[in-house]
Amino acid sequence: MLTLIDRLERDRTLPKGDLVALIDGRGPESEAYLAARAREVRDRVFGKGVFLRGLLEFSNHCRNDCLYCGIRKSNRVVGRYRLGQEEILACCAEGHALGFRTFVLQSGEDPHYTDTYVAEIVSSIKNAFPDSAITLSLGERGHDAYALWKKAGADRYLLRHETRNPGHYARLHPASMSLPNRLGCLRALRGLGYQVGCGFMVGSPYQTTGHLAEDLLYIKELSPHMVGIGPFIPHKDTPFASMPAGDVGLTLFLLGMIRLMEPNVLLPATTALGTLDQEGREKGVLAGANVIMPILTPPGVRGKYLLYDNKICVGDKAAECRLCVARRMFGVGHMVDQSRGDHPGFRPGGPA
Ligand code: SAH
Repeated sequence: MLTLIDRLERDRTLPKGDLVALIDGRGPESEAYLAARAREVRDRVFGKGVFLRGLLEFSNHCRNDCLYCGIRKSNRVVGRYRLGQEEILACCAEGHALGFRTFVLQSGEDPHYTDTYVAEIVSSIKNAFPDSAITLSLGERGHDAYALWKKAGADRYLLRHETRNPGHYARLHPASMSLPNRLGCLRALRGLGYQVGCGFMVGSPYQTTGHLAEDLLYIKELSPHMVGIGPFIPHKDTPFASMPAGDVGLTLFLLGMIRLMEPNVLLPATTALGTLDQEGREKGVLAGANVIMPILTPPGVRGKYLLYDNKICVGDKAAECRLCVARRMFGVGHMVDQSRGDHPGFRPGGPA
């Protein structure tokens, strides 16, 4: 196993069969070795700084019906909310005062936010805080919308591909959604010059190690600026309510593999990881992650953006989350870095 890890670090990829063997053969020794290699690679590129992103969940309305997601259209129990432009700006102002220089605007796929309305929101944030980056995470839209938002000032776009395997994709999503369309969105975003993030859930229902290997090879192919992975966690009002949650150890192992495959990548230790394990985000950073995304969503609606059960921080205020992550990172020998935190290879203005 250790020679496979050395080969992964040297070649930055492995044939699918070797990726599967490495994942399936993992144990305490390979976990410790991989994490140590991933930390060294991460430290060489980024040092001990962990980039901060303020996550603003501005709408939980969704036209989609992903089987795993708590805010899916068919969930009639959710209290739905939307934040208006002024509320969004007020959250960003609070976040800016707390030291955030990246705002991640995330929502369900909500057509209420038309292409032009989103552009208006983006440019108003950009005008108010020209030193800050804007990341959008609004799901699938057309090329023209993505182009408009880029022109309005959006810098980055997160769109997890969810799984690279078409059969697996079809078991997680309604027939109206298509993997080629999702991958096409990622290609379009990249072509428009966004810093782009793909990603997947670890331990989503029906996932095999072969699927994970395909996900890793897809990351290699797309070579994104960011990769978001976190464990699947069931939500009680979805068809996957009784499915088991993903494994924290496996998630950490995959974070390490991704760090070796893409040394410069921006890799968050996610809220889902922190939900399954009280110290999940610290462990994520110790496994090779270098980004943390505290929640900026206003307390009044936080408890309504529940993609999965038992989400952490829903009772906290933005300032508390900001302090809490600083303390947590400090506790494991890191510090939060308050710069924009662009990808090292990113050239402002041009396609990356
Ligand atoms: N509507 C946007 C944002 C989706 S929410 C979009 O389509 O991109 C962000 C991510 O949360 C999803 O991409 C998915 O990977 C993850 N997620 C959704 N439900 C989850 C669950 N039950 N457990 C863990 N992660 C989940």
